[in-house]
Amino acid sequence: MFYHLNHHQFADFETAYEDARYVVFGVPYDSTVSFRPGTRFGPRSIREMSYNFESFEPHSGIDLAAVPCADIGDVEPELRPEAVVEQVLALASDILGDGKVPVMLGGEHTVTIGAVRALMPECFVVCDAHLDLRDELSGSPYSHGCVTRRLAETGIEDIFIIGARSGTREQFVRGQDLRLYTADDVRARGIVPILEEIREAIGTRSMYLSIDADVIDCCLTPGLGTPEPFGLNPLDVREVVRTLGPLASGFDYVEVCPVDAGQTAAVAAQMVREFIASHRAKSRLP
Ligand code: MN
Ligand code: MN
Repeated sequence: MFYHLNHHQFADFETAYEDARYVVFGVPYDSTVSFRPGTRFGPRSIREMSYNFESFEPHSGIDLAAVPCADIGDVEPELRPEAVVEQVLALASDILGDGKVPVMLGGEHTVTIGAVRALMPECFVVCDAHLDLRDELSGSPYSHGCVTRRLAETGIEDIFIIGARSGTREQFVRGQDLRLYTADDVRARGIVPILEEIREAIGTRSMYLSIDADVIDCCLTPGLGTPEPFGLNPLDVREVVRTLGPLASGFDYVEVCPVDAGQTAAVAAQMVREFIASHRAKSRLP
């Protein structure tokens, strides 16, 4: 199902699968893209950029070279989105079944449906410029524009959307049933009190954390398939990862489309490292 990319592994993630606690894999898929193609190159660009950084994370005091992380390479995606969802579901189920934490690099947001279905968490937290609450887009119910809608149908108790600023009127009406914190809410209130509210609401329930790269203002990280201005900044999203990451049983960073000078992939690579370091330092899981 996947192959090993010896020259393009994430930096410092050199533990064998059997011994790993965290398992990174990529899903270079962008076939339902609606605007600018290229997120299939996201996993590669994130891995390349990961070599820019020191293995030590000073905030958590964790040296990533000492954390058992494996990078098992990329899924070879099918063409149809529902087939890719099944591929990710199977792989993430295997990783979770082996008692490990899946860390997925997209690819377009569609891939998240499979990983979340594998976990079936009680809570889903997503950072995204878009509500992704369409029932279908371009004829497919598994388009990247339908991700949160599909997950809302799976029996997840609570869905938290952070940073949204784009969607149809119908999607915003539907969003009222979810816990929606718009980009304007984050700007008005600050990210810290919002995250405290979300952490209290989650409590001891299980959770999956998904970051769509376009939640960040496209003026800061322009390597995106569907760029939107007036968004969060990278420090806001880092705060999300540091605060909520330790509660998550699975994590993904999706929708990096490396058409920029590398800044979007640099932020993504750091978020993956921040997730693993903060999870390792503070996880409530065994
Ligand atoms: Mn999305
Ligand atoms: Mn988006």
